[in-house]
Amino acid sequence: MIQRQDLLAHFDGLLQPERFKDYGPNGLQVEGKVKIRHLVSGVTASRALIEAAIADGADAIFVHHGLFWRGMDGRITGWMKERIRLLLAHDISLFAYHLPLDAHPELGNNAQLGARLGVQARGSFGEQALGLVGDVQFANADALAAHVQAVLGRPVTCVSGAPQQAIRRLAWCTGGAQGFYESALAAGADAYLTGEISEPQAHLARETSSTFIAAGHHATERYGAPAVAAHVAAALGLSHRFIEIDNPA
Ligand SMILES: [Zn+2]
Repeated sequence: MIQRQDLLAHFDGLLQPERFKDYGPNGLQVEGKVKIRHLVSGVTASRALIEAAIADGADAIFVHHGLFWRGMDGRITGWMKERIRLLLAHDISLFAYHLPLDAHPELGNNAQLGARLGVQARGSFGEQALGLVGDVQFANADALAAHVQAVLGRPVTCVSGAPQQAIRRLAWCTGGAQGFYESALAAGADAYLTGEISEPQAHLARETSSTFIAAGHHATERYGAPAVAAHVAAALGLSHRFIEIDNPA
């Protein structure tokens, strides 16, 4: 058992949110009970996750996607009211870390995805150095796409402007990082892997003779939260469970 403020201090110490310019507040987003025994982690603070955490007896929830984002109008109505009502009614704290959780060098989303893909990061690139690059050996774009598909257990979208060419340098950034494509190419990558694709990236892949793979926002971002939560829970003697709420996006 630990005090909520001590748990916050541990998360902050590990993830160093002050180093990032982010799209929402990192840290404690909703304050619950003072004493915490059981921690549930998940990707997104959706109603389904909150309900599953309540059923699991959680005192606190740790997520990558919290409740509050820049540009929201701030009203607590409808689905937002329901999420917050459930947390407050059960006195559950919500901890959310966005970019700091992507970036942690061992436990973060990008590092954990690299480890699962079997790619060692040799450097970083892009906004706030969030993306990673590593050396790989794939015969062509299809071989890389098949590997990613097998590791993540879901279909991927692969657009290649050089489908016969071997892939030697892979850049990756989890989630909705399709906007980093050009900086990945500038970092010397011949293939870039992220969660989502938008219309322009298909043309860019063809026109730069490179490969773009979208492997799912959720699928690429489901490893960091349980890694950090398990690490902190073990250090503090808390029980922990990761709850996967499937998301096709
Ligand atoms: Zn995300």
